[in-house]
Amino acid sequence: MKQTYSFDDVLLVPKQSNIKSRSEIDISSDLGKNNFRLPVIASPMDTISGAAMAIEMVHHDALAVIHRYNTPTAQSEMISYIRDVTRGEKIAAAIGMSGDFWDRAESLVKAGTNILCIDVAHGHHTMMEACLKKLKDKFASSVHLMAGNVATLEAFEALSEWGADSIRVGIGGGSICSTRIVTGHGVPTFQSILECSKTSYDTKIIADGGIKTSGDMVKALAAGADFVMVGSMLAGTDETPGKIMEGSKSEKYKEYRGMASKEAQRDWRGKSSTPEGVAAVVPYKGSVKDILKDIDGGIRSGLSYTGARNIKELQSRAHFILQSSAAQLESNTHILWRK
Ligand code: IMP
Repeated sequence: MKQTYSFDDVLLVPKQSNIKSRSEIDISSDLGKNNFRLPVIASPMDTISGAAMAIEMVHHDALAVIHRYNTPTAQSEMISYIRDVTRGEKIAAAIGMSGDFWDRAESLVKAGTNILCIDVAHGHHTMMEACLKKLKDKFASSVHLMAGNVATLEAFEALSEWGADSIRVGIGGGSICSTRIVTGHGVPTFQSILECSKTSYDTKIIADGGIKTSGDMVKALAAGADFVMVGSMLAGTDETPGKIMEGSKSEKYKEYRGMASKEAQRDWRGKSSTPEGVAAVVPYKGSVKDILKDIDGGIRSGLSYTGARNIKELQSRAHFILQSSAAQLESNTHILWRK
C-alpha cells in the first residue's frame, strides 16, 4: 500500500535567502485572466461566503465564492450587490450539477459572475463531465470554470479534459468533514496536491480542506497549489453570515458547519440524509481583515525562508522533509502544554 502524507507530516527546509523585506515578495496568483494579490479563496459555505465576505476578500485582492444554498434569484441579487459595491471584475459563485443548475448558472452570469464554481463533494463523475461541457459550450472563455472536488491525478486530468479551468483538490480533509469516517474514502489533502501537481494540463490547483495555518498554506503552495481555499480559518468573523451567539460567561461564538451536516441539509432541503459533515461553534474573531493580514504576512515570511520571490520559485526551490511524531510536538508552541 502506498504511504501518503498530510500537512503535519512534512516541513520545508530553510534555504539561503537574499530577500531583505517581505515587500520584495510577490505572492500573487491567477485564475485565467483574473490576477489576485493574495492566493486565498473563501469556501462556498453558508457560514463563510456571503456578500460581506466577498466584498472584504476583494478589498484584499483575494476571492470568496458565494455559496449556492439559496434560490438562484437570492444568489444573483447578492452578485449584483457585490458588483455595485466593488468594481465587479472578479466575482465567483457556486452552482451544483443537477436540479436548477442551468438556470442558476445563466442567472448568475447575467448578474455579473465571471467565475462559476461547480461545487460538489465527488467531482470525478459523469454528471460533472456533462455539466462542464455544457457550460464551456455556452460561455467559452468568458467565464472561468472552477470545479471539484477531486483527490487524484486521474480525476484532475479528467476534469481538465472536460473543460475545468481550475480544480479544487482535497476530499475528506475539511475541519467540519466526516466523509472519511462515514464512507472510508479520501486522500490527505497535501498528498492530493503533490499528485495533481504532476499534471501536464495548465489547469489551476486549488488546495481545499484541512488548511489550519499560514504554514499549511505555504506547504500547499510549495507542493504545487496555485491557490488555497479555506473555511475554518475565516470562520467566526464579522464578515461570515450568521449571528454572534453569547455563552454563559459572555464569551462570543459563531456557527461554522459542513454543508453536508444534518443542520445544513435540514435548512436547505427541509430534510436530512446520512450526514457527511458536522456543525460546530467557533469563537467569535472580529473582522476578517486582521486574519487576512496575518495570512498575507505568514505566506510572505514562508517564501523568504525558502529564499523564493514568488510562488513559482517557491515550488522549484521547495525541499520537503518528513517529521517524526517527536518533531511534530516540537513544531508546535509546546510551552502551552507544559504543566
Ligand atoms: P476547512 O478549511 O478545513 O474548514 O475545510 C473547508 C472545506 O471543507 C470546504 O471548502 C469544502 O471542500 C469542505 N466541506 C464543506 N462542507 C463539507 C461537509 O459537510 N462535508 C465534507 N466536506 C465539506
